[in-house]
Amino acid sequence: MTKLNIADKSLIRQINMSAILQVIREKEPISRAEISKLTGLNPATVSNNVSDLIQMKIVREIGSGESSGGRKPVLLELNPKAFYIIGVDMGTTKVITAVTDIEGKIVKKVVMRFPKDRTVKVVIDIIKDSIYKVIEGSNIEVDKILGIGMGVHGLVDCDKGISIYAPAFDWHNIDIKKIFEDEFSVPVNIDNDARVMALGEKWFGRAKNALDFVCLNIGTAIGSGIYLNGELYRGSSFGAGEIGHINIVNRGPRCNCGNYGCLEVMASGPAIVDRFIERINCGEKSKVIDFVDGNLSDITGEIIFKAAIEGDELSKTILNETGRYIGLAVSVIINLLNPEMILIGGGVSKAGEFIFDAIKDTVFQKSMKHNVENTYIGPTGLGEDCGVIGAATLILKDIFKAPKLY
Ligand SMILES: [Zn+2]
Repeated sequence: MTKLNIADKSLIRQINMSAILQVIREKEPISRAEISKLTGLNPATVSNNVSDLIQMKIVREIGSGESSGGRKPVLLELNPKAFYIIGVDMGTTKVITAVTDIEGKIVKKVVMRFPKDRTVKVVIDIIKDSIYKVIEGSNIEVDKILGIGMGVHGLVDCDKGISIYAPAFDWHNIDIKKIFEDEFSVPVNIDNDARVMALGEKWFGRAKNALDFVCLNIGTAIGSGIYLNGELYRGSSFGAGEIGHINIVNRGPRCNCGNYGCLEVMASGPAIVDRFIERINCGEKSKVIDFVDGNLSDITGEIIFKAAIEGDELSKTILNETGRYIGLAVSVIINLLNPEMILIGGGVSKAGEFIFDAIKDTVFQKSMKHNVENTYIGPTGLGEDCGVIGAATLILKDIFKAPKLY
C-alpha cells in the first residue's frame, strides 16, 4: 500500500505553486494577500512562491490595487509571453495547428489538408510539417515552447498517449506521444478530439462555470466530450461520448462502425451530402446544382448551407432533417445526464439556425420537461478554434494543476 509521504517537501511546494498559479490565472490581477486568503496558504509561503514565479517570468507585478487601510498592495498577473504551447487539432481530412500563449490565445495558426492516400507515414509527416511551419511563422524562440497537445479522432488512450483506433486513417495502436516527443523533445499529451473541444470550452469558452455539460463535434465524423461534476469523463476504457454511433433510424445506411442508421451516417457532413444527392436523384430540384455546374461530386455541406441562406427549399429541408436527427441524440444525452449545457461545434454547426432551430424543437419534444427546462443548447464559444485551443489546454492543465514546471 502506498503511503502519502508528507515529508516530501518538494511535492508540497509544487502543489502550493500550482494552487497559486491557478488562482492568479482565474482572478488576475490579484494581490499576494488575496491569494493567501483564497488558497488558505500562509502569507510567507505565498510570498516565496510568487518570488520564484516572478523570477521564472511566469508571473509579473502590475501597478497597485485598492488599499483596505494600509499600504496599497502590488497586483500580480500571468505573463502570457513567458511560454507558449503548440495545439494540434487533427481531424479526418485536415490538421489545424496553432501556437498559443499560456492564456489560450492563438499567436499563429496553420491549416494543412491530408491527401486521399492517408497512410500512417503521410499523416504523421504532414502533422510534423505543420508544427515546424507554425513555429517558424510565430517567430517565437523554440525553448519557450512548453509542450504539444493533440486532439486525435477516434479512440485514444490518453494515459499512454496512444491512438488506439482512428477510423478515417484505419490505423491501430499508434504511439503518437512517442513519435512527437522523439521529434520535438517536449512533452506531448493527446486525447480524443471531441473531448479536447470540451476541455477548451471549460477553460476558455462558454462552459467556464459549468460543472455538467456535453460538447458535440459534428463534422466529417460525430463525437462528444462529456464533463460530469467538473471532470472530463472518459469511460472505463476511453470510449465514453461515442454519440455518433447511437442508432437514430431503423434500416438506415451502413456506418463505419459496422452498424446501420447511426447518427454519424445520418447527420455528419458527408451524410448531409449523401441524403441531398439521393433526393436529387429522385427528381427534386435545387439551385445547388447550378452552384456546382451539374457536378454532383462537387457538392459539399457548405454549398448546401449557402443555398439554404438563399432560400433553396431542398437545402433547407435537408438541414432541418439533420437538426432533427441531432436533436434525437441530444435528447438522449439530456435525459441520461441532465447537463447544464449542450455545446455544438464542428463544420455542421456552421449551418446556424437552419440546424439549431430543429435541434431545439426536437429536444423539447423528446426530453423530460424537468431536464430540458434550464439546459442551454447552442454553438461552442470558441468556434472553429475550439479544437486547437482545447489541444493546447492538454498541456496547460498540467502546468496549472499538476505542476512540472522544472
Ligand atoms: Zn456507427
